[in-house]
Amino acid sequence: MIRFDKVSKQYPDGTVAVDELDLVAPSGEITVFVGPSGCGKTTSLRMINRMIEPTGGRILIDDQDVTKVDSAKLRRGIGYVIQHAGLFPHRTIVDNIASVPYLLGTDKKQARALAMELMERVGLDTRFAKRYPAQLSGGQQQRVGVARALAADPPVMLMDEPFSAVDPVVRDQLQEEFLRLQSDLGKTIVFVTHDIDEAIKLGDHVAVLRVGGHLAQLATPAELLSR
Ligand code: ADP
Ligand code: ADP
Repeated sequence: MIRFDKVSKQYPDGTVAVDELDLVAPSGEITVFVGPSGCGKTTSLRMINRMIEPTGGRILIDDQDVTKVDSAKLRRGIGYVIQHAGLFPHRTIVDNIASVPYLLGTDKKQARALAMELMERVGLDTRFAKRYPAQLSGGQQQRVGVARALAADPPVMLMDEPFSAVDPVVRDQLQEEFLRLQSDLGKTIVFVTHDIDEAIKLGDHVAVLRVGGHLAQLATPAELLSR
């Protein structure tokens, strides 16, 4: 469980990106942060893995304050997927996916076998293993990004607009596959999007944010739809 306890972030220029955010993202479920550009979604997400430090309040993962955990250790337990997959351009697909296991000292052969298995899981043709990111479509690159984030089998996944840059048909496929994968894996997921339809489709819980970093409401998709 991830708990935001009156979390605020004011940037040095005075911008208040997040204002006393209080919420819980339950374990094994998908919590979506939705709202217009600039409402503090990315800032909130990046405070979970300490890419950004809050200026007020605290974030707890399973009752442990994230600022009290060594940040390398913290990040091993947190997969991170962004809009443009952020793959290493000069590494093959299989080496991109295996990059975290390599870092952790996993035997190369074993790491590659794991990467191939993950390619299948996320719906990538394993014949792409030796290709480079630029040789894949946007949707395929996002699948690689998801596979790479899963490679250390982290209990928590942070996803920042992972499906926003692909065309609507591919987006739909990626969303469906993501839901199937999650029903197997049961990760604790915080998912950021500006698209309310995506939030309703994917979220177990939807946190609606307003510019200024206020939580407007926290509801289930069913509750949002019945209003
Ligand atoms: P994205 O994740 O959308 O590619 P960024 O994370 O770089 O983009 O920025 C997210 C938002 O924060 C954007 O609205 C951007 O304009 C704003 N932003 C990023 N860095 C700064 C900064 N140093 N000063 C002001 N606004 C910034
Ligand atoms: P969202 O992800 O919802 O688009 P962000 O968290 O990126 O929102 O940004 C929230 C607010 O903080 C925006 O007003 C943005 O311009 C500002 N912001 C983001 N990063 C910085 C930064 N590094 N310095 C100053 N302001 C920033």
